[in-house]
Amino acid sequence: MSPTPTVDPDRVIIFDTTLRDGEQSPGASMNLAEKLEIARTLEALGVDVIEAGFPIASPDDFAAVKAIAEQSTRARVCGLARSLTGDITRAAEAVKPAGSRARVHVFLATSAIHRQFKFAKAKPEILKQAREAVAYARGLCDDIEFSPEDASRTEPDFLAEVVEAVIAAGARTVNIPDTLGYAYPNDYADLITYLRKHVRGIDDVVISVHCHNDLGLAVANSLAAVRAGARQVECTINGIGERAGNCALEEVVMAMRVRKDQFPGITTGIISEHLFGASRLVQSTTGLPLQRNKAIVGDNAFAHESGIHQDGMIKNPENYEIITPQTVGVPGTTLVLGKHSGRAALSKRLTELGLPVQESDIGKLFDAFKALADRKKEVYDGDLIALVEEVIRGTTVSAWKLDYLHTSAGTEAVATATVRLSRNGEVVTDAATGDGPVDAVVCALNRICAVAGTVEDYRLRAVTKGGDALGEVSMRANVGGVIVGGKGLSTDIVHASALAYLDAINRSAYQSKKLDYHASGA
Ligand code: MN
Repeated sequence: MSPTPTVDPDRVIIFDTTLRDGEQSPGASMNLAEKLEIARTLEALGVDVIEAGFPIASPDDFAAVKAIAEQSTRARVCGLARSLTGDITRAAEAVKPAGSRARVHVFLATSAIHRQFKFAKAKPEILKQAREAVAYARGLCDDIEFSPEDASRTEPDFLAEVVEAVIAAGARTVNIPDTLGYAYPNDYADLITYLRKHVRGIDDVVISVHCHNDLGLAVANSLAAVRAGARQVECTINGIGERAGNCALEEVVMAMRVRKDQFPGITTGIISEHLFGASRLVQSTTGLPLQRNKAIVGDNAFAHESGIHQDGMIKNPENYEIITPQTVGVPGTTLVLGKHSGRAALSKRLTELGLPVQESDIGKLFDAFKALADRKKEVYDGDLIALVEEVIRGTTVSAWKLDYLHTSAGTEAVATATVRLSRNGEVVTDAATGDGPVDAVVCALNRICAVAGTVEDYRLRAVTKGGDALGEVSMRANVGGVIVGGKGLSTDIVHASALAYLDAINRSAYQSKKLDYHASGA
């Protein structure tokens, strides 16, 4: 029925788990519209597999995976499941709309410590459960991936036994996760080599790796595994994920591309010019800002500060540059669009940036663009990316909207904020004082929305250059005990702060209670 992902020795399959493992980052949960937008962006970026979620976790997760499967046109869409029939049935149902591109990813912990303390099961029982889960999944879906959770801490001989059993049961991809980020590149490569030597049938399946960054080695471990024969890398945009995060997609892809000498003949399907746009979208959607010195996509990744370097750059960029900013889609500072630019030009530029906006959103986006172009004569790529995020984010339904904001503050005055909000025809106005205008706004919003909330982390960033630049506020807030991210964009920073906090309040209402599970190894 489906085209099997045959093992191409020259192709490394990029398996993106931003929407599953990435979403497990505290405060990173996304709503349906945001997940769909990220999934579209991932397809435009050229990822081979999108792990869209964990369907059994909640009705919302199920709906999101199903919607992504329906929307997808090219990438495989994968749903995660524990080795339980209920999980597997649900996952298979969710990915079904992707047709021959549907994948179910089944996992089960295999290490001694997990066997004993998580399951209180002996090796034979684990082996049997893994085999039966894969066989069951294979009855529902052709493309099955299996992950022995905590593989890097599992006895190699037992790991080989499990991997052999799941291949015999029909798994087409076997993932060897370094669940705790404990592996070391040489050892991890040796483990892959060991499995290739000792597991019957392993040459007919794709060996995958899934590395966490607890020791900052996720990318190094993934690269070592690829050199040892792994042909699928599980990764996330910006390296987001449980704890210290996952292998960063942009880093592992560019390392293989720039160091072709280490990876002769190896290719991926990633369109590197779209990396920056994807990074920005994920950064702002999840409310997880990047450090400025982040490799490949950080604000400073291409900034040359010292005079000696600047002089060298002017003489020949190759003196100090192993990747050009253009290669990874870092927006130029040249003016791209102005107030006289039309809808088609806007649409074209967004596609070039790797942000394929849906037809139904273009109208809203164009209005926002015109409004911005009126306030700010020059609209840069960075502004456009921010606008897309803003418009997509604004598509949430039945949420509070900010209709009016007035603040007064000064060194001698008590800061006060007057705010008017509306929701489904209901309009409420209130005022509050605080320690500064932002605090006053937060207090007023808490009163109107009847929530007990505090701001836990607050960041302000100028999206582009100049005094009239858009200010982007991203914050983490605790709203009634729920940690949630919020973002706001405006040329006025108090206004941006109000939008960000209101966004957090709106999102806290969506945060559905999720099944408490530990899937970090899968
Ligand atoms: Mn994980």
